[in-house]
Amino acid sequence: MPLIDTLNRPLRDLRISVTDRCNFRCVYCMPKEIFGPDYQFLHRDRILTFEEITRLAKIFVSHGVGKIRLTGGEPLVRKDVTGLVSMLASIPDLDLTMTTNGSLLPKFARPLKEAGLKRVTVSLDSLDNEIFKSMNDVDFPVEKVLEGMEAAAEAGLGPIKVNMVVKRGLNEASILPMARFFREKGYILRFIEYMDVGHTNGWRMDDVVPSAEIVKMIDAEMPLESADPNYPGEVAGRWRYKDGSGEVGTISSVTQAFCRTCNRTRISAEGQLYTCLFAVKGHDFRALLRGGGSDEEISNEIARVWGMRDDRYSEIRSENTIALPKVEMSHIGG
Ligand code: SAM
Ligand code: SF4
Ligand code: SF4
Repeated sequence: MPLIDTLNRPLRDLRISVTDRCNFRCVYCMPKEIFGPDYQFLHRDRILTFEEITRLAKIFVSHGVGKIRLTGGEPLVRKDVTGLVSMLASIPDLDLTMTTNGSLLPKFARPLKEAGLKRVTVSLDSLDNEIFKSMNDVDFPVEKVLEGMEAAAEAGLGPIKVNMVVKRGLNEASILPMARFFREKGYILRFIEYMDVGHTNGWRMDDVVPSAEIVKMIDAEMPLESADPNYPGEVAGRWRYKDGSGEVGTISSVTQAFCRTCNRTRISAEGQLYTCLFAVKGHDFRALLRGGGSDEEISNEIARVWGMRDDRYSEIRSENTIALPKVEMSHIGG
């Protein structure tokens, strides 16, 4: 039986952040001014070991979680992450995926597939090098990310999904070229509304490009029709090209909150459990793991935390909530 929260939502989906580090400094996630050379990332001893992650994952699966996504920070900068993938892949009936910036996929795609990873989602915000570099802020070129996607597709980590965060005034001009390009490729491009995660990215409502505007823009050139969700609680709205040439997705966390069906929870690299992407406070599972807690105690704690969950941040977002000291995206995972 899945666990049910106070709003009748089952626990189905777990995101595990395996590191708070990243080789990019995306302006909407890890702005350089904050995440600079002096920034104190988590010390090695403070992040969960592969054994601890796997132990927790098994307990979550016993509670009805069927999908685990590895994320970060950049999951591929965690040393030997393929080792973790193979440990998690040994858990039966689990859909194991990863979200990555793609930069290290040329090296890791095949080993990840061999270790048992099912699919990857690759983030890319523009096909224009000038725009992309101004967003990743480490001068990383588009071609290298495209190479990573190719490597993933060749290794059998498809169908590839592509995440594009749209920020007003930065990459709106990239929407149509991205749609055209990935339609041709047969990858599913998903447009993500820029969100007020964390408290360092200086988010303003004016910077959000509503999904409806994006759909309208694409529809004018390549007609779209809405499609049903693939499964209950799917985050992305689905839009099919009317000529049958594929689909795009919209993740409208700001303009069309989907809290009502939100069945996701998140573990940070240091083992804090967050029941909402916009949480201010986590629940310390590392202390339980390292303090000799039994599987039963950990299982009961997961049940207790989910049982009292009432999060619906996106539905109640306001000027007051924006200022809350929320956890950073690179910490909690996307
Ligand atoms: N480093 C990996 C990557 O970028 O794919 C995984 C972690 S990243 C935090 C996960 C996803 O969150 C990415 O697709 C990223 O673009 C998205 N993201 C980060 N900050 C965001 C923000 N402020 N609003 C919307 N999406 C954001
Ligand atoms: Fe790194 Fe991903 Fe955040 Fe960009 S979005 S800074 S790639 S963690
Ligand atoms: Fe789920 Fe929180 Fe996002 Fe709502 S705001 S969809 S509860 S993660």
